[in-house]
Amino acid sequence: MKKVVKFGGSSLADSKQFKKVKDIITADEARVYVVPSAPGKRSGSDAKVTDLLYKCFNLALSSKNFDEAFNEIKSRYEEIISGLQLDLNLDNEFEKIRGKLLNEPEKDYTASRGEYLNAIILANYLNYEFVDAASVIFFDEAGNLDETKTCSAFKSKLESKIVVPGFYGAMPDGKIKTFSRGGSDITGSIVASACGATVYENWTDVSGMLMADPHIIDKPAEIKNITYRELRELAYMGATVLHEDSVFPVKKAGIPINIKNTNRPDDEGTWIVENTARRSNYTITGITGKKDFCSVIIAKDLMHSEVGFFRKVVQAFEENNIPIEHMPSGIDTMTVIVSEAKFVEKEQTILRRIAQLVEPDTLEVEAGLALIAVVGRGMKSQTGTAAKIFNALSDARINIRMIDQGASELNIMIGVANDDFERAIKFIYNAFVKDSANNFKF
Ligand code: ASP
Repeated sequence: MKKVVKFGGSSLADSKQFKKVKDIITADEARVYVVPSAPGKRSGSDAKVTDLLYKCFNLALSSKNFDEAFNEIKSRYEEIISGLQLDLNLDNEFEKIRGKLLNEPEKDYTASRGEYLNAIILANYLNYEFVDAASVIFFDEAGNLDETKTCSAFKSKLESKIVVPGFYGAMPDGKIKTFSRGGSDITGSIVASACGATVYENWTDVSGMLMADPHIIDKPAEIKNITYRELRELAYMGATVLHEDSVFPVKKAGIPINIKNTNRPDDEGTWIVENTARRSNYTITGITGKKDFCSVIIAKDLMHSEVGFFRKVVQAFEENNIPIEHMPSGIDTMTVIVSEAKFVEKEQTILRRIAQLVEPDTLEVEAGLALIAVVGRGMKSQTGTAAKIFNALSDARINIRMIDQGASELNIMIGVANDDFERAIKFIYNAFVKDSANNFKF
């Protein structure tokens, strides 16, 4: 049994955190593949090393002096090295990075150095082998992961104890390419799948996922078990604990993810799995949502008998490169829900095009829509879930502007006014979690 352990930026922000990480790794001999992020924030007002690196790059690109940010980065690593009393000097590495910035600044290369340097330090501290991600994680010409090449590169490392920096890999020409922000989670998942690990432990600064945003709900209940599909639904609508794309490599390989807290290692955290017979304490697994959508409402008598009507409406959005979020429809109306920020830029062109293509009776636009996703595998075949949500919103005197439930019964989507967003989440949460007298556990 071998585990991948990925540590986020706050888990490796300074030497004190490094010590906790070592204690965690040495407490379980299965923890042999380690993936670190770059040092993150030590406190709310602190800077992440990755942000400082991007700053250096931007200054270097416009031929400005980047010494201040660069020295701040250096001192972050020097504190870690001296705090751990390591016999390690990174001066040469820093000179190489400075030279690149001065002569041929490259954005991804610069950003990747945060993880690269942290992994060198962590490998030294743990006495594990340092494996540069550029020598084991490969992309193809289109920038997608080259799975075959990546898997075969890891073959020679399977029996070793290794530290692989997160967040980047190499293009076919050897150039460094990073994932999007927070991408060390993806590296952890790729390493887990390439090495055939039994578990992917993702160590962060919270004890797993919560049922709702703690900025809205006071001390929300923890999610003990969640399926990949539920996680996708929650992540898509805004709940973040893992990078969205990090699920795919482990899901394919059937490896569970365990979200753990570096500051409270004994907490069980959240298990993310393909399938589970474990019951959730509540009918729903979580509630999340996002504000600032708008709906385009198209009405035309007998639209349903007009072949190609829906396609033509979709075409107007496609031509303008605007992704559609949802499309609830009535008998003679259809509604297209899109992100407000994206839509407003092309609004007049799209409306004109719809008018031209389908000649609607009326065409209206409503802005300021918030979407709330109530997600849970426990909703399947369970009666009364929708009723509970609607009763809660009716008690709160909140007007529901849209309802959408997929046939998978994993997710009920509700549209309310932006101003009602937080209150709606509170009332729904209370209906399922706080009102335990009425709570049907499944
Ligand atoms: N250091 C990178 C970031 O801040 C990647 C990561 O931490 O996952 O986005």
